[in-house]
Parts: sequence; C-alpha cells; structure tokens
Amino acid sequence: MAHTIGIDLGTTNSVVAFLEGGKAEVIPNAEGSKTTPSVVLLSGDDDPVVGAVAKRQLITQPERVIRSVKRFIGSRLEEVQDRLAGIHYPLLADDEGMAVIEVSSMLYKPEEISAAILYKMKQTAEDYLGEEIEDAVITVPAYFNDSQRQATKAAGQLAGLRVLRIINEPTAAALAYGVSLDEDQRVAVFDFGGGTFDVTLLEISGDTYEVLSTNGDCALGGDDIDQLVYQVLRDRIREQTGIDPEGDKATVQRIREAAETAKCELSSLTKVKINLPFIVANEEGPQHFESELTRKEYEALIAPILERLLEPCRNALRDAKLEPKDLDQVLLVGGSTRIPAVQHLVGDFFSRPPSKSVNPDEIVAMGAAIQAGVITGSLEEVLLLDVTPLSLGIELAGGVFSTLIPRNSNIPIVVEKSFTTVVDNQKAVNVHVLQGERKVAAENRSLAHFKLNGIAPAPKDLPEIKVRFMIDANGILNVSATDVTSGNMMEVTVASAAQTSTEEAERVAAEAEEKIEQDLNFLRDRRRIQQARDFSAMVQNFMDSYEDRLAPEDLHALREKMFSLDVNIQAGNVEGVANAEGELINIGGRYKDLFYSHKASWENK
Ligand code: ADP
Ligand code: MG
Repeated sequence: MAHTIGIDLGTTNSVVAFLEGGKAEVIPNAEGSKTTPSVVLLSGDDDPVVGAVAKRQLITQPERVIRSVKRFIGSRLEEVQDRLAGIHYPLLADDEGMAVIEVSSMLYKPEEISAAILYKMKQTAEDYLGEEIEDAVITVPAYFNDSQRQATKAAGQLAGLRVLRIINEPTAAALAYGVSLDEDQRVAVFDFGGGTFDVTLLEISGDTYEVLSTNGDCALGGDDIDQLVYQVLRDRIREQTGIDPEGDKATVQRIREAAETAKCELSSLTKVKINLPFIVANEEGPQHFESELTRKEYEALIAPILERLLEPCRNALRDAKLEPKDLDQVLLVGGSTRIPAVQHLVGDFFSRPPSKSVNPDEIVAMGAAIQAGVITGSLEEVLLLDVTPLSLGIELAGGVFSTLIPRNSNIPIVVEKSFTTVVDNQKAVNVHVLQGERKVAAENRSLAHFKLNGIAPAPKDLPEIKVRFMIDANGILNVSATDVTSGNMMEVTVASAAQTSTEEAERVAAEAEEKIEQDLNFLRDRRRIQQARDFSAMVQNFMDSYEDRLAPEDLHALREKMFSLDVNIQAGNVEGVANAEGELINIGGRYKDLFYSHKASWENK
C-alpha cells in the first residue's frame, strides 16, 4: 500500500513526513533540506518554483516571488489588512471579496500558491519513497476558521492530493510527542514560527488528545524580529552612506535576508558580523556596508516582542483553569523557539525547562504523519479532540440566540435540538446560523441563512423541527433542519469567511460577559412585549365573544385601552404596556368569572 504523508504547511517553511515501521520520519527535499521555504516563484508559463531557489529570487525578481501566502488563504481582503506587514506583493479582492494576489498582471488565489507548495512536498515524498503519493494529512493553526480550513483542503486537492484530514498544528505536535508516552500528561505546546505565535494546552490521556485551551497572536513571529533587525541595519546603512536603501526593492530584500541570517546566527553566537558589499551607491560610487550586532544589543531590541508572548500564555492557562505547576511538559515548536531568550522566557513562565526531546521544525509534520497512519490503519486509533473557539447556534423567535454547541466544546461533535413553529400552519422556518457569545442573536456573527420549506400544516407549537449541528474532525460545520412529520430536510455547510482568531474569540467572550445584563434586559423586554401581544389577542377575543353581554361603556373603555396597549406594543414600551394591561384587567375584572375563565382557557389553548 502506498504511503500516506503528513504535511506541515507553514507560513514560512513546510515539512513533509511519513510513517515507517510505526515511526514518523521527515523527508529531505531535492536540495537536501528537511524544511522547504514556503516561497513560490511564478514565472509566467513555466511551472512554479518552490523553496530555497524561489526564496533567493526574492532579491533579483521580488515581483514574481510570493512568501507568507498562508496569511491570506481563505480570507477576505478586508480581514487581512492587519496581516500585511513585510508583504511586498499587491493583494486585491476577487468578485466574492476574497483576497487574491497579483503577479505580472495575473491574479492568483492563495490556495493556488499553497497548492504549488503542497505539490513540491508531494514530489519530495514521491522522489524519496519511489512511489506515487495520493493521500495526505495537512496541518493548520488551531485558530484557523472554517473558510481557511476549506481553502487549505482545496489547495491539497489542486496539488493532486486526497486530503484525508486537516488537523491542528499543536495537536499534531502533541501527538508526535505523546505516542511514546506511557503515562497521562498535560502539555503546553508553545509554537513561535515565522509569522504567528500560538500556545495550546492539551491533555494526553491514553490514546486521547484533548485541547484544553488555545490562545495566541496571529500577527507575531520571526518576521517581526527580522523587521526590527532590518530597521537597525537600514539606519546604519543610512548613517554610513547617506543613502536610504528603502527605495529599491531588491536592496531591501538583500538587507532583510542579511537581517534574518544575523538573527539565526545570534541563536548560537554572542556576536555576528554583517557584510553587504555594494549595497547602495552614492556620489562616491558603490558602497560596502559592514557592521556588528551583539547578542546583548539584539536581546534589548527584541524585548518588546518577547513581552508579547506572555499574555497569550496567561490567557491559555486561565481558560483551562490551570496553573503552570499543573503542566507536565512544555513543547517548543517553530523556528523562533531556537532563540535562547525565548527558551528562557518559556522556562521562567512555566517554571520548568522546555522539552529538549523534540525538534521544533519537524514535530508538527511528524504528528501529521502519525495521524495519517492512524487514519489508514497502520497505527491504532488515537482520538483527537479539538475545541470550538466560539459558541454556535441559531436565532429563535424574539431574537434570542440559542446555543447548540457551546464555546470550547471538543470536536468532532454532533448536537441535535428540537424546535417548533410560532404560528398556526406555518409552512416554512428560517434557520439563521450564528457564532458568538451574546444572548441577543443580532449581536453575534451571522454565518448562514437557510429556509426549510414544506412543513406539514399543523397548529403552532406542534411541529417538531430537528436542527442538527455537526462539526467534523476538520473543524468544518454542517447544519441541517428536518421537519420530523414530513421528513423534509435542508442543510448547509458553513464556509464562513469570518475570521475567528483566538484573540477575536477572547474579545467576543469578554464583550458578551460585559453586556450580559444589557442583553438579558433586552430579551426580557422582548419577551414581555410578546406576552402583551398574546394578552391583546386574548382581550380582543373576549370582546368578540361576549359583545352582547358587556355594558356598552365597558366595551368602549376596553376598545380605548386596547388601542393604547397596541400603541405601546408597537413602540416596545414595556411600562406603557403594563399600564394598559392593568387597566384592561380592571375593566375585564368587572365580569369576574367570565373574564378570568376566558383568560385561563385562552392561556391553556
Ligand atoms: P512557520 O511555522 O511560520 O512556517 P517555522 O517554524 O519554520 O515557521 O519558523 C520560521 C521562523 O523561524 C523564521 O522567522 C526563521 O527566521 C526562524 N528561525 C529559524 N531558525 C532560527 C534560529 N536558529 N534562530 C532564530 N530564528 C530562527
Ligand atoms: Mg509552523
């Protein structure tokens, strides 16, 4: 049987692994490297070039080279505005508003560019294993929303792969770490890569991997550190030569590359030399640039970035209701965790030295390969549990948000709830699917609308409409509604372009907590007005039924007060409604049994 591969499709670097004799192994690419830069050179009619060769072309033909495309996959243009730092290529919106990339006046979807990277990883595996590879498991960040996951899956398909599963990167890391464990453990996965940072707490017990919480910053990574070092070099070049190198794209790329090299060297050296011959030209001709950067200067420079790593760690612990001492292990993932200052910070924060047994570049791909082995049956079943960042539910009559899947639920998950109609012989119901933490539906994010038609005619409250929410192992949501009597069914798969990063989820939850009172008041008022409508219908029915038994002046007074009640209902004035009801009851009360028994039988109807 052909192998199934696991791919870590990174923002900066990608890695492919396979399972051999029950062990995951990373496959080196044609250039002999186990990590392949996620950089793509698009040169017109020729096939795209991926990896180190493409990365080098950032200097000579930056306009044809795309890096960090993962930031934009499955996202709308307006959502990516804060992810543009260091991006040198233009992004536009397609007809649906999704972010697309322009290269030599051609438009590319991010998934097409990711497909080129995945194709390179597929080829790497095929060359190494000497067989055709079709099946793959691909990893994505835990905070990726549905739309980003779907687009990643589409990229795999474009690359000629059958994507067996999309799994979360931290879960993959824990899986690779946890396969050799005998005892249950709680681990923190600290993933600091090129463009993103996330921290995830997981519980490994037996074969079960449960994400307890996840948090992070999707605009914080090694690129930001490169940018700081770049600024230092740029300033020094300007000082030394009187020329600002910023004007020329190729020069900027050269300096940026030198900045990254210096950064990586400073992970093992305490001082580095930076040499950039012929970097700019002034009136004296081409100028060389030479400079030195010490570990000390560098650490002072990046201190503000390191500081930003702590808040997500605190949040993750708080959400999981854990303290550092409750954790058994901290796993370092991502190239930026090679920075000694980062390792110290993590060690201090969690009061334990991070694990040295894992390779931060390879562990995610290895976990993906292990998951691939599980799916294809070459390894025993391991249960992966991930969580939903925000609650999912539907809007009920009266604007109430009814949660079906609460936030932080483990996925995959299926939840069914029964609903009914609100008017007699209602033929259709609108199902409005939302995501969020507010009690008032309108305050939450709308994901999809659909209509279930053909409900069998019946008095209100009688029909049973089963609404089913299903999130599969890839984190993709499917919602269906079924009229139990007629068997009619409608469903949608939610391909939401709405972003739900962990910070976003945090913000939404905090806001919901803050506004809970306001929401409850609002809903209570809505309910009160609904009751008043019922009451008004009851009084109207009382007047119609007993017109001949009511004194004309009472009938007149009832009509007058009914008018006032209806006006207050229209205005949503709860106080006015209560007053009008009180007056109607006073008048009705003159007919004691007649009125009260009518009222009781109306309410029991
Ligand atoms: P991603 O998950 O975003 O694809 P990686 O985990 O491959 O990213 O990390 C890439 C980042 O790690 C880059 O910013 C790279 O410069 C940085 N990096 C790699 N090696 C080192 C090192 N030795 N010291 C510091 N940073 C490093
Ligand atoms: Mg990564």
